[in-house]
Amino acid sequence: ENYHALLAENRKLFNEIQDLRGNIRVFCRIRPFLPGQKEKKTSVEHIGENGELVVADRSKPGKEGHRLFKFNKVYGSDATQAEVYADTQPLIRSVLDGYNVCICAYGQTGSGKTYTMTGPNQATKENWGVNYRALNDLFDISQCRKGSITYEIGVQMVEIYNEQSFVCLDLHTLGIMTHSQPNGLAVPDASMHPVESTSDVIKLMGIGFKNRAVSATALNERSSRSHSVVTVHVRGKDLKTGSALIGNLHLVDLAGSERVDRSEVTGDRLKEAQHINKSLSSLGDVIFALAQKSPHVPYRNSKLTQVLQSSLGGQAKTLMFVQLNPDASSFSESLSTLKFAERAAGVELGAAKSNK
Ligand code: ADP
Repeated sequence: ENYHALLAENRKLFNEIQDLRGNIRVFCRIRPFLPGQKEKKTSVEHIGENGELVVADRSKPGKEGHRLFKFNKVYGSDATQAEVYADTQPLIRSVLDGYNVCICAYGQTGSGKTYTMTGPNQATKENWGVNYRALNDLFDISQCRKGSITYEIGVQMVEIYNEQSFVCLDLHTLGIMTHSQPNGLAVPDASMHPVESTSDVIKLMGIGFKNRAVSATALNERSSRSHSVVTVHVRGKDLKTGSALIGNLHLVDLAGSERVDRSEVTGDRLKEAQHINKSLSSLGDVIFALAQKSPHVPYRNSKLTQVLQSSLGGQAKTLMFVQLNPDASSFSESLSTLKFAERAAGVELGAAKSNK
């Protein structure tokens, strides 16, 4: 009942939040404890039906450590990939109507970003992440519309590491012809690969992720310290009117958001940490500026926000998955993740602490 009282108290605030959000949606997903981790304490106290989340700092007694957050959705650890995708689908489908869409996953390393975006290693269709489901959906719908609109779909994969972008799908290793130059190409040297089916995509992404993994071992688990951006270009032609429809979809697995103790790292690791901080905070600043309807949106401050510019702001639709590790020992990282998310969405509950 405590929570209900608390929520009633904040209802007015919540309504204002919904208005503020504009085109930015934030879905929070809590990953399950992994096998062998079962006995651990969780920092998740309560998940409400309307996107409320209460987390608890277990080092504090009783309700003292409770904090309330509010997002568009919160998925508990039992949510399936299909359930998560069902809520994402309308955004994906709008790409075929000419919208630009950005879907990104934010959180500390190990919180399930890759699981949500791509799926587990050796994913089967059942546990495919958003990437494969999205492409599958785009093909299905474009097939259904074949009589009135013809679509060309292309995929590109880029990794952003230390403010530089690297193309993960290389034309030479693949031997595939590039498509005509897509519009709004933010990474000039990246290649766009035409795809016609989900199996093309699985093949291409497999190669792209492998390329990413190769550089990861070479550079000391670089994958958690770089941003992976899959871009899907959709170009439709209305057969009756001849008019063109162009939509871009960015699917982004962000670098781990964990704070690196500066007193403990030097050299390359320090440089990496600074680049990650800079790019994630730039992303937060851009989303915050958009949520506030600020006249100046600081896209130029990082490579990441430059690459994503076409799908952030304007008519574009943005969805951020905020990923949490449920372990009580990760509480401080979870809290900073949640604070990032609530600021990005332009929503700071401030006084709405659940220990009142
Ligand atoms: P990140 O990309 O944030 O570093 P991962 O996606 O690699 O994290 O997830 C860490 C581990 O947790 C992986 O073994 C992954 O398969 C597992 N995992 C994450 N989310 C889920 C989930 N919802 N259900 C089952 N396993 C998950």
